Amino acid sequence: SIEIRMSYIPEELIQGVLAGNRRALAKSITLVESSLSEDAKTADEILYGITGKSTSSIRIGISGVPGAGKSTFIEAFGMYVISQGKKVAVLAVDPTSPITGGSILGDKTRMPELTQSMNAFIRPSPTSGNLGGVTRKTKDTILLCEAAGYDVIIVETVGVGQSEVAVADMTDIFLLLLLAGAGDELQGIKKGIMEMADIILINKADGANKINAENARHEFENALRLFKPKYKYWNSPVITISSLLKIGITNVWEKIQDFISASGEQITINRKTQYDKWLWSHLQNQIYYDIQNLKENNPLILKLQEDVKENKISIRTAV
Ligand code: GDP
Repeated sequence: SIEIRMSYIPEELIQGVLAGNRRALAKSITLVESSLSEDAKTADEILYGITGKSTSSIRIGISGVPGAGKSTFIEAFGMYVISQGKKVAVLAVDPTSPITGGSILGDKTRMPELTQSMNAFIRPSPTSGNLGGVTRKTKDTILLCEAAGYDVIIVETVGVGQSEVAVADMTDIFLLLLLAGAGDELQGIKKGIMEMADIILINKADGANKINAENARHEFENALRLFKPKYKYWNSPVITISSLLKIGITNVWEKIQDFISASGEQITINRKTQYDKWLWSHLQNQIYYDIQNLKENNPLILKLQEDVKENKISIRTAV
């Protein structure tokens, strides 16, 4: 089959993104995610063109194990936020595989109402590559969505550890979605992840599970007291919600607003720190790939590589 590759004029895409055109946005994200060097060049131009154009936004990270109710929550929460006059973008970071525990992060069929909404933009996780590659692309996608006028950016990930840290490093506030069940509530949740959470949501607080959820809330509140708070001005609240019955969703949005006002300038300061980290991680990655490419026909590099293998010179010397 013949695939016709269109070439895109960066300026048109930039204007399209800034005008909030969804197709221009989707196309630009595809270019950002592409591993082809000509696409990367266009992506660079687009990102350059939108820099500084992003409006005020809130970047919300959400994590929870498969089945915790992330997509059900994002659907209910996203629709509520839209009813408050906002535009919502839903992105995902899933470095392990496009399929996690049977659910695909950012899969549109999991959020039927949001998918239909003109004020929502849903994008599944970039599938290729390692965590570093996926997060670099997602960071650029956040900036593109903001330039296109989306003011609530939700980045979801699964509860597997590393990816939460990556998502917390690209968002302003981090929500941990837990599900109340019988038994040992704290089991399986890494202390580090709990410490990262700015708000803990206990989902499925409905029907027969309501009592379990309340018990879990108390347990988590007690557990949180043992941690050193992330911010002096903020004690992470534990909220029971039912995403399915849309109970407690307003409360979540209010708590986020509380967090924003309590944070004041700290959000801007955090973003500056994040951008600095992004810069160095991009740079590290770029230098690595430049050297990898250089290696191809470089006798010195090949010789050093051989010498290291043969234990003729130390790795430090070779480096
Ligand atoms: P995800 O894998 O974290 O995205 O979880 P899903 O949103 O797909 O939810 C997993 C299952 O839990 C689905 O069958 C949902 O209908 C159900 N679920 C999600 N939220 C709630 C809730 O608040 N109450 C109840 N009873 N079920 C829920």
